[in-house]
Amino acid sequence: MLANLLDFDIEGLAAFCERLGEKRFRATQLFRWVHQRGESDFSRMTDLAKSLRDKLPTVACVQPLQVLSEQVSSDGTTKWLFDVGQGDAVETVFIPEADRGTLCISSQAGCAVGCRFCSTGHQGFSRNLTTGEIVAQLWFAEHVLRKRFGTTERVISNVVMMGMGEPLQNYDALVPALRTLLSDHAYGLSRRRVTVSTSGVVPMIDRLAQDCPVALAVSLHAPNDLLRNDLVPLNRKYPLAELLDACNRYIPFAPRDFITFEYCMLDGVNDQAAHAHQLVALLRGHSEGGVACKINLIPFNPFPASGLLRSPNSQVQVFAQILQDAAIVTTVRKTRGDDIAAACGQLAGDVQDRTGVVQRMERRKIMMQTQKPEMSGRKETAL
Ligand code: SF4
Repeated sequence: MLANLLDFDIEGLAAFCERLGEKRFRATQLFRWVHQRGESDFSRMTDLAKSLRDKLPTVACVQPLQVLSEQVSSDGTTKWLFDVGQGDAVETVFIPEADRGTLCISSQAGCAVGCRFCSTGHQGFSRNLTTGEIVAQLWFAEHVLRKRFGTTERVISNVVMMGMGEPLQNYDALVPALRTLLSDHAYGLSRRRVTVSTSGVVPMIDRLAQDCPVALAVSLHAPNDLLRNDLVPLNRKYPLAELLDACNRYIPFAPRDFITFEYCMLDGVNDQAAHAHQLVALLRGHSEGGVACKINLIPFNPFPASGLLRSPNSQVQVFAQILQDAAIVTTVRKTRGDDIAAACGQLAGDVQDRTGVVQRMERRKIMMQTQKPEMSGRKETAL
């Protein structure tokens, strides 16, 4: 079987070159050809020795993902659906803005966390993506967009691991992928411009701090454990106090001196003024000095299976004002790509649920409706 060069960070590629009897510096040349120039044909890598150019196709390849579809939104947001085999497909989204180009990447086919408000979560979980499959999303998008825009300059300046999947539950594949994103011989992205978004896998937050600290976004979505247990089931394993402790431990290693908390605004569920005050108390009161953070309020993108609705803009503004009055930096995310279902929480791909996540979510929904009716519907408030 051929080795997929997209699976290697530069250290891994150097070790691969050594196994071929080549000098380690060959890895740097090869890495640049593949990632900086988007080249997958070894015969065109002209500064490699002819003997290596001849040998490589017999032992290695650059394995792209097959594009199943591409949709371009009226606002320029572009969404690709990639085939990852065995009936699974994952989504990747490019979001162009005046001063940056952001790529939202998937880390798993589906997701096992099963957040109530998340379209991916409702699809269930099939498998982890490999490092090569994670990197291939950027490799494809960067080089396709360069050609499309007629430029040799970098198009993608920011990457957010906020597509399908919980990246910290695919840690071993994630870290080499991040190292490739950051490598000056590949994409050369700044640590500040690469964001891992997690629902709160506490032990892996600590490991990321040691292995490859990049910007961290935490899906918070609730100001208390009772409500968060319902919205983000992982909270039962790693409750808020433990999660916020992990955030405080991460900050000294982070490229920014704060954590971003994502908070999806759900009409009548977590968007009341009382929730905002509770959130302030939680973040200010946790540990001495509180948690250095920024809050990103996300307008919910409704989908039928969720049974949830988007908070009215006026409610979002009231909520934001309470946070700002408490001197917490708060932004409201602009929704992008609504018309092609590319906005936050809308990525669903096409996933064979192989772990029964969907059934578990259904059972949980029924249980919550029978045991805690106050937590399951809209227009009711869990405090
Ligand atoms: S919000 Fe993230 S962690 Fe939760 S189900 Fe969706 S993809 Fe998984």
